Amino acid sequence: MPRVLQFNFEDRDLIYLDKIKGADIVKLAIDIHSDTIVIFARDAWGRAYYDSEVARKTSRLRNRDLLREVIDEARKHGIRVIAMIGHTTHPELYSKHPEWAQRNIEGLVIHMDTNPRSEANAELRWPLMCLNSPFLDVVVRELEEVLNHGVDGVLLDSFRYMPDLERACYCGFCRKAHREDLGRDLPESEQWDTKAYRETFRWRYNVNVKAIEKLYRALKSKNPKAVLAYNSHPAGWKGRANTVVELARNSLDIIYAEASEVDYQPPGFLAEMVKLSTALSGGKPVWSTRNAFHTALTTTSTTPVAIRQGIREIFAAGGSPVVLVFSSTYMQSRYFINPVREAFREIEKLEEYMDGVSRLRYAAVVYSNRSRDWAGRSDPRHVTDEVRGFYYALAYNGIPVDFVTDHQLDDGLLSDYRVLILPYTASLSSRGVENIKRYSANHGIVATYLTSIMNEDGDILEDFQLSEEIGVSYRGLVKYPWSYIAINRDHPITRDVPDEIILWGDFDRIFRERRTPPSIAWHARVEPHGEARVLGFIGEPASDYGFEYENGRSPPLLGSLTRDPALIVKEPRAVYFTGQVGRLYWRLGLPHHEQLILNSILWSGGDPPIRGYSEGLFLLEPYKRNGQIIVHLLNLTCDRRVIARGNIDDQTAWHSTVETVMPPRRVIPIEVEIEIKELEPLKAWSPLTGRKLSIEKRNNSTIIRTGLGEYELIVLETK
Ligand SMILES: [Zn+2]
Repeated sequence: MPRVLQFNFEDRDLIYLDKIKGADIVKLAIDIHSDTIVIFARDAWGRAYYDSEVARKTSRLRNRDLLREVIDEARKHGIRVIAMIGHTTHPELYSKHPEWAQRNIEGLVIHMDTNPRSEANAELRWPLMCLNSPFLDVVVRELEEVLNHGVDGVLLDSFRYMPDLERACYCGFCRKAHREDLGRDLPESEQWDTKAYRETFRWRYNVNVKAIEKLYRALKSKNPKAVLAYNSHPAGWKGRANTVVELARNSLDIIYAEASEVDYQPPGFLAEMVKLSTALSGGKPVWSTRNAFHTALTTTSTTPVAIRQGIREIFAAGGSPVVLVFSSTYMQSRYFINPVREAFREIEKLEEYMDGVSRLRYAAVVYSNRSRDWAGRSDPRHVTDEVRGFYYALAYNGIPVDFVTDHQLDDGLLSDYRVLILPYTASLSSRGVENIKRYSANHGIVATYLTSIMNEDGDILEDFQLSEEIGVSYRGLVKYPWSYIAINRDHPITRDVPDEIILWGDFDRIFRERRTPPSIAWHARVEPHGEARVLGFIGEPASDYGFEYENGRSPPLLGSLTRDPALIVKEPRAVYFTGQVGRLYWRLGLPHHEQLILNSILWSGGDPPIRGYSEGLFLLEPYKRNGQIIVHLLNLTCDRRVIARGNIDDQTAWHSTVETVMPPRRVIPIEVEIEIKELEPLKAWSPLTGRKLSIEKRNNSTIIRTGLGEYELIVLETK
């Protein structure tokens, strides 16, 4: 299992390049127990770091060849070298061939520069080149050149060739290719309701996929053993590159899941990204990143806890950790080195326990690329929020959870899961529907809102494709700015929910264009079938918005209770919410929504084969292999990890800013109880410490209790 050091030179003037030799980078890799180095062969400024005939070598290297230095030194120590090439930002090539650049609908160059809005005429630093232009042939030549140099593989950064209108390319090459492929011109505006627009959207994905396929073929024909990795940046780019991974998965050896958002994201984000990328790629190796620095502050290290726990989290989720170090981090801040070494050494010791494992499965949350696009349209974040709410409710409660994606639904690869969660999975193919129908005959399903209202292509249908399975027929939308649901607490799904009246809405955190986020309090209006049971009804708001706290931002009071169902169960194991309970939990974290989510999944799926309990926050990631269960426990209970957020986009009326983003400093030790059903462990021990754990029987379960510092891996022998 690779433990990766990515070492980037990326500053424009390459200040430290003449002070850092290839041997220094390899020495750092050895020092931190890394077995794989990723470096730029050609950077985003268009410069080569080796003797290249394709790109200009940086003058800072004089007669040196950095790539050669690294490869030669790494080889002595059995370290693999992966070269980054093919950046779609390429100012030097742009300078020669401006017609190869991506251009928006107005003909302006699409770029990667970040500038404040006030800098209207900032210099163009990182123009993006178009995959439909001869640029791609340049990338093929780069790839062949670095393979000749002796690298073990190639990492492509995200292509940033986007389907969304505001970033879509309208260059001459694209216009021509689109006309040739689809027989019409590129659309001049967003027309989501038309098949033609959606077809163009997919066409743009395929431009990415074809480029990957071309590079994959070039790579394998040159060296079949070399590997191709692609940076999908799963939480960036509106999530669109996840579609590229899913469609191109057979032409990728490694999914590189850049997770640069981690410092702003909830605890558990890295595991989420690894598991998502694993599902999207159909089980390809996933490399995910923990930057050595905090947020975008490349010149200073982040805290040891952030680094150690980040690396362990990637490993626990089944991924390979990449530590990203910039030359400036390396020269100005060595604080990151010890924690990387600690975590990498640990993984070096433990990685044999991940050989030949498969996930111990229970719940599968559908992450549907198609639903994100067709239901989410230009702003798909709200659709993804619904998915993430379900994921985190399970992960934070020690319940095994994975993602499944469109291709797994299409191919019916569901059988190991006890419960399938369809969080606003609007778009389903007919094959997917058939597979879910079969699956639901003897497994649990939990669905929400407009699940299955669209076909695979995003056409809106008159009724749910899963109408029979969830026990309701679709009758339109209930559109309130805010709503409530009133539940009958006389059922396992509603038991222990803190209140009978549950707020179903939230105020908009930007609060510029609107008071509430789009459709947050909406429901599907449904008619339950005879055999379905209604456990909750929709409550109307008494007014458009509330007049209490922060008059205008608070919720309206409960008006009348309607007879429109909000929560429906169909025996034996289907649950349907008419609204978006996952999204509410994602935004608010209230126990009401969490309890509804947990109860419905546990009722529908039955007891999980393994579950963890603790007073603290932790992740439990379970695997099995012949005669063993392998359980990773990662403690997420930190003393301080502060992220401040105002009640509007920029709260200038408050007495202090809301821009605080602090990394964790210390992990608080907790006690964890693991409950195992069905499989009967005879022995439990920790390979890290050699410690044996005692096993206790309770009813039909096996209980193992352990103290948890930062991280632990437990091996359970089952025979
Ligand atoms: Zn183009």
